[in-house]
Amino acid sequence: MRANRGVAIVNRTSFRRFLVVFAGTIAFAPLFADGTGDKKQEVKIERFKGKVVPLADLVAKAGAKLDADAGPHWLALVTDDGTIYPLVKDSGSRMFFSDRELLHRPMRLTGRLLPKSQLLQATAVHSYIEGQLHEIYYWCEVCSIRRGEKNDCECCGAPMARREEPLEK
Ligand SMILES: [Zn+2]
Repeated sequence: MRANRGVAIVNRTSFRRFLVVFAGTIAFAPLFADGTGDKKQEVKIERFKGKVVPLADLVAKAGAKLDADAGPHWLALVTDDGTIYPLVKDSGSRMFFSDRELLHRPMRLTGRLLPKSQLLQATAVHSYIEGQLHEIYYWCEVCSIRRGEKNDCECCGAPMARREEPLEK
């Protein structure tokens, strides 16, 4: 009898323990799920070296043809090892769209790849001139206005000039 009761107590205790663990698992499950989700969305900023080219050229090289109306909206960075990263067209990459003279030149793009893709969202662009990193900006001499992309000056209407200055080390 005593032994039986002992077993019963042990069983009850382990059942209670099981309940606690089980309840804990349920309670924490959503947190764990959220935790992993956050990790996947963690922004990993990387640097990419290569040249920005029209995606249409790359598509043509691969034996296909990009619709003509899509052409102006798609550029891609081709890194030194030949990997192609299509650019998300936003404020970070806009200078390549508004100043085509920046294409086919050695560049360093800082940015992130969109999750599960090779789409590159740039946050900063630097050029290489004779192997040295340069900052790129656009300047109106008349108004002393500096901007991050090529436009006519919003003050005097004159076209802004591109300037590239060596990054200070
Ligand atoms: Zn101006």
